[in-house]
Amino acid sequence: MIIVPEREIAGLLGRADAYMAVEAVFAAMASGDARNFPVIREAIGHADALYGFKSGFDRAGLALGLKSGGYWPGNAAKGLTNHQSSVFLFDADTGKCRAVVGGNLLTALRTAAAAAVSINHLARVDARVLGIVGAGHQSVFQLRAALEQRDFTRVVAWNRDPAKLARLSDVAAEHGLPFAAVSLAELGAAADVIITIVSAHEPLLMDAHIRPGTHISCMGTDTKGKQEIDAAIFARASVFTDEIAQSTSIGEAQHAVAAGIISADRITALGAVINGTHQGRTSADEITIFDGTGVGLQDLAVASAVVDLAVTQGVATIVDF
Ligand code: NAD
Repeated sequence: MIIVPEREIAGLLGRADAYMAVEAVFAAMASGDARNFPVIREAIGHADALYGFKSGFDRAGLALGLKSGGYWPGNAAKGLTNHQSSVFLFDADTGKCRAVVGGNLLTALRTAAAAAVSINHLARVDARVLGIVGAGHQSVFQLRAALEQRDFTRVVAWNRDPAKLARLSDVAAEHGLPFAAVSLAELGAAADVIITIVSAHEPLLMDAHIRPGTHISCMGTDTKGKQEIDAAIFARASVFTDEIAQSTSIGEAQHAVAAGIISADRITALGAVINGTHQGRTSADEITIFDGTGVGLQDLAVASAVVDLAVTQGVATIVDF
């Protein structure tokens, strides 16, 4: 069995590797080659923790396994990350445990890669202004990955606590791009591409904020009850997602579906656009939404890539198991 510890991930998996792994698995999901299994998520009644696992199988990439972990709110006080996860991969031919991989950085890289894939396939090619809603842990990964998808010339951002925006302005400065902290209305008026990555339970970006032609990657909503954007935006948008079943139940689209604004048949798997079976954006005026709910197959895809890289580069620990 191969072990790739958390500390090795940063030196192994680049953003381009994560992008390719996530794009390929979205394509496999849409063509029926890969399937996510039902998600388990439970409050364990200890340490206020939420624990669960996401699993699936990609027959095209032969990735079988699960990501196990969750949220331990007391970890920060112990000098640990609140979100903890590990990925377990199994040999698809024998069921033997193939690898255990640290999952914390992988989660950030695969989530940012999902938004990047959506921007590449759905945003206008002439998009120049990138807007970010949120300045938490994930936001920096999102910004870095998104900047590689278009020739952005400016970054605008909003966060509930504006002081945290400094981490985003630092990344913009590294890329030589002007950065502005703006209101949500200003952000909607300026941005061609918007990423939302917050833990909100009410809409922040409203229908009146969004201009025709905008692409929005909604990345923060991954649980029932969370919400980042006005459900009314869905009425005039083309809607894409990683997995339709998750989008309508725990993703950003849950509110528009519950309100009867759209139904599941108006939502397209992003993989269909990647595979060329759906045309994606059809006009410069179209609003596109990517509802990135986060699926286990993304974790398995990047973990498989990292195991291959660790073996090739000789940093994998191999144990008899
Ligand atoms: P974090 O705790 O580091 O940051 C949270 C962010 O949300 C901050 O910007 C904070 O200001 C903002 N926020 C919190 N409550 C808010 C409210 N009521 N109104 C406005 N803003 C609010 O979290 P993170 O690690 O950056 O993750 C951000 C979100 O992304 C989380 O909800 C997390 O569950 C989600 N997430 C989704 C995926 C996916 O695959 N879709 C993967 C990882 C994380």
